[in-house]
Amino acid sequence: MKYSRKDLTELNKLPIEELVKLARKKTDQIHGKKVLLRGLIEHSNICSLNCLYCGIRSSNKNVDRYHLTHEEILAIVKKGFDTGLRTFVLQGGEVASDKTQSICSLVSKIKQITRNEAAVTLSLGIKSYSEYKEMVDAGADRYLLRFETANPELHRYIRNGLSLFSRLRALEDIRKAGFEVGSGFMVGLPGESDNDLVENILLASELELDMGGIGPFIPHDDTPLSGSKQSPIDLTVKATALLRLALPECHIPATTAAGSLDPLGREKSIEAGANVLMPNITPVAVKKNYLLYPGKICLDEDGGECIGCMSMRVKRVGCTIDYGIGSALRLAKNQIKEA
Ligand code: SAH
Ligand code: SF4
Repeated sequence: MKYSRKDLTELNKLPIEELVKLARKKTDQIHGKKVLLRGLIEHSNICSLNCLYCGIRSSNKNVDRYHLTHEEILAIVKKGFDTGLRTFVLQGGEVASDKTQSICSLVSKIKQITRNEAAVTLSLGIKSYSEYKEMVDAGADRYLLRFETANPELHRYIRNGLSLFSRLRALEDIRKAGFEVGSGFMVGLPGESDNDLVENILLASELELDMGGIGPFIPHDDTPLSGSKQSPIDLTVKATALLRLALPECHIPATTAAGSLDPLGREKSIEAGANVLMPNITPVAVKKNYLLYPGKICLDEDGGECIGCMSMRVKRVGCTIDYGIGSALRLAKNQIKEA
């Protein structure tokens, strides 16, 4: 059942405990008590854009810029694969198109060393349709591009003049190119209303996302949004529950941002319907330079420690870790039909 704007507005008025219960019940029906793992590699903090909210925006001169080499990334993947990870997410700043070939060659090497048994997710910002297609042809499976906010004016402001329309067109290109599609938004942006949250959920639902990433906006001191009010974790928990009800099959991560805002933020997100965790397997030596927001957790822990810690955390909320590849459910269903 698809929820209308009116339905979502009504759901948004429910007490949070009730909403969380409904969302968890829906999650149990579709995904069970499993929490999928995706290894996150923050491969570069070099970015040519200047989003107002982001700690690694190009104008921030207090950032030590880095770019991991292919050899470094492949070594991280190999180690993660041996530990059991079956999805690798490469995330970085947005840079000009001459990097696409290099990304494609990296993707094919990752597919080779993981014997095609692992999925590769990319999160590198807006590219052209032909670039997305090249990435799919090289073997990339999934792409993450949050729409950040469904409010067009707020979008243009926080993205330093770029339009919501360009983001949505890119999401269309991503789907057309053959990726599993991930998007989402930040919760509690400055100037946001209750109605904006409903519009965010509605847009995520219209986009029929395979993966939905949402996390609290956390103001960074070295950005123009420094000093903005911090939203409470409950708003992110509520947004997670609404997203789950609107998109029952979607893979929803309990984000690091939620865990950074509240020590139990990820557990609370899982209780509200999240079914994915993303251990950060970026080398400890550079992790501290990928500060999209302040107070980011696990900066001193390597990937192995992250996975150990996550297993304990999911147990405490009655779930278990799932090492499966965790493809979009629509694809998993097609595979069953074809068999
Ligand atoms: N450059 C790519 C990927 C890296 S940013 C892109 O922009 O799509 C990944 C996500 O981090 C963004 O989509 C945004 O939602 C989130 N993010 C950035 N700054 C943040 C902040 N201050 N608080 C919370 N989330 C933030
Ligand atoms: Fe660059 Fe992404 Fe940060 Fe925007 S959010 S400045 S595109 S890394």
